Amino acid sequence: MRMYTMKNLKLVLKENREQTVVNVAGIDIGTGLTVIAGPCSVESEEQTIETAMAVKAAGADMLRGGAFKPRTSPYSFQGLGINGLKILKKARKETGLPVVTEVIDPRDVSWVAEFAGILQIGTRNMQNFSLLKRVGRSGRPILLKRGMYSTLEEWLNCAEYILSEGNPDIILCERGIRTFETYTRNTLDLSAVPALKELTHLPVIIDPTHSTGRLSLIAPMSLAAVAAGTHGILIEVHRRPQDALCDADQALTPDMFKGLMTKLRSLSKFMQKGQYNES
Ligand code: PEP
Ligand code: MN
Repeated sequence: MRMYTMKNLKLVLKENREQTVVNVAGIDIGTGLTVIAGPCSVESEEQTIETAMAVKAAGADMLRGGAFKPRTSPYSFQGLGINGLKILKKARKETGLPVVTEVIDPRDVSWVAEFAGILQIGTRNMQNFSLLKRVGRSGRPILLKRGMYSTLEEWLNCAEYILSEGNPDIILCERGIRTFETYTRNTLDLSAVPALKELTHLPVIIDPTHSTGRLSLIAPMSLAAVAAGTHGILIEVHRRPQDALCDADQALTPDMFKGLMTKLRSLSKFMQKGQYNES
């Protein structure tokens, strides 16, 4: 078996620091279970605010929503851009939920940061080194998704880029990797959770939506992630999934999300109370 030397890593390794707890407007990530939920994309004010209210009512801690969408096809909906960010600002005001939103261009970082509680770097940009360096100087926490073709070591090197620019607040998000399997959209590498907890002090969360790409698998894999020790879940919810402009097949309805939240909180409490006896 290949030895993991991780020889170029410094700041990201667990041996060098205490567990990082990222705090955004009073919400912690890195202790307990933090749930970030919302639509794939900001499509309109009504759609975003209605979905935001629903996820808040179900107990979500933060709102997600993309205003800049990195789409495979140039002809697909690319997001509302600045108007999407303004809508997210309104949703933040109405619900009190801090906002996670993606930035895809280094030139946009400074002004996107004004609208975001957390800046997301998506799977396609994990190794966009100029973007990583730029967000390292953004003054905002970064949610760094795993590249769909990347090893844990490559991923940790990307976090190291951000840390080395002086930004200590990074959340790692496993969102599935490409394998030969085609039934699921990607293969969720749940082992990344305990593996990263061995290697790094950074919080690690799971995205059951983009990893499975299948509605029926989202709840079981979210629960499995909690059992594996995830610090959080990032999940797509849409007020009317059938109308979604992006990822319509895999968004939970507000009702489905509510049901899942009850189970997630219950399992998380069970795990944290030490009621699950590991010996
Ligand atoms: C997203 O979370 O909106 C997204 C585009 O995810 P990923 O980068 O994991 O595909
Ligand atoms: Mn999506």
